[in-house]
Amino acid sequence: MKILFYSTKPYDKVWFEPMGKDFGFDVHFVEMPCNRETIALAKGYDAICTFVNDYIDASMISRLYRMKVKGILLRCAGFNQVDLKAAKGKITVLRVPSYSPEAVAEYAMALLLTVNRYTHRAYTRTRDFNMNINGFMGTDLHGKTAGVVGTGKIGQAMIRILKGFGMHILAYDPYPNPSLDVEYVSCEELMRRSDVISLHCPLTEETKYIINQKTIDLMKDGVYLINTSRGQLIDTESLIQALLAKKFAGVGLDVYEEEEGVFYEDRSNDIDIIKDENLVRLTAFPNVLITSHMGFFTKEATREIARVTLENAYALENGNPLVNEVVWDRG
Ligand code: NAD
Repeated sequence: MKILFYSTKPYDKVWFEPMGKDFGFDVHFVEMPCNRETIALAKGYDAICTFVNDYIDASMISRLYRMKVKGILLRCAGFNQVDLKAAKGKITVLRVPSYSPEAVAEYAMALLLTVNRYTHRAYTRTRDFNMNINGFMGTDLHGKTAGVVGTGKIGQAMIRILKGFGMHILAYDPYPNPSLDVEYVSCEELMRRSDVISLHCPLTEETKYIINQKTIDLMKDGVYLINTSRGQLIDTESLIQALLAKKFAGVGLDVYEEEEGVFYEDRSNDIDIIKDENLVRLTAFPNVLITSHMGFFTKEATREIARVTLENAYALENGNPLVNEVVWDRG
């Protein structure tokens, strides 16, 4: 099988290059993202492998189909970036549903601890021999209430961690898991009662802008908000207005609704980046921490992503059951 990898970074090759050879695949890497301009590169390949910010729309699917590309291998869990309706019956879409839920949950906790205790800012102060701790007063997490939105694999890992900190857990999920020792409540109640809110649901039509002006108004003053799921779960304009009104004690974002083409790239010398006023404003708040969609980025998780992606390709090539297929009518 001949596979073209889009949006390749040096760290992608660490596992995919040797493992691809082990599977007997002919793997080729390009740094370019997958988009309407670059889709023509897929000619002659059996499958393409893409990442979280590679959007594949209906017109690109038609072109892949005409080029006889059989599979889209998503080397990520989320699949909102592919037009699954257009793909149905034309091209097989496979993903990596789970690789290390702990990697993302541990990262969500890192964001929470950082925005709460200002370790990122203390680091720069002490490197300057400025040992003043003014402005860095945090809050105990022990005994506080954490609201977890989405109790799937990552949400459950987050719940285990939050419990370790002695927090009371509220959860909201349209499909509650009865085996979890948490208090399931409505989305509104979770917003009202939580001291910390962490988002772990997928991006769907229902969850788009789940954090909006209305839900923010329900929240306590001084709440912490953590998003490691998808940028569009939060209406950024409403978030900024609430930050200006000093609603939040801290906000940790590993994802951002306009992250495509920005995250994973070095834009430090590009004046155009300043045109993204929301990103510039968010980074300017002293109580907001933004990182570049890296919750997944551990050795264990990236190795597992490579293994499962290549097993998906192997199953597609050999007509084996496609356990990780995502199909439109199955959601
Ligand atoms: P999962 O499928 O195991 O769990 C998702 C949960 O969300 C399910 O229990 C589902 O019932 C629930 N859900 C669905 N609709 C909901 C709604 N309207 N409100 C509340 N909950 C709802 O997924 P997961 O593996 O736990 O991943 C969660 C999300 O994390 C992914 O969709 C992805 O967007 C994100 N993610 C981010 C990174 C990163 O690097 N930052 C890495 C992997 C995944």
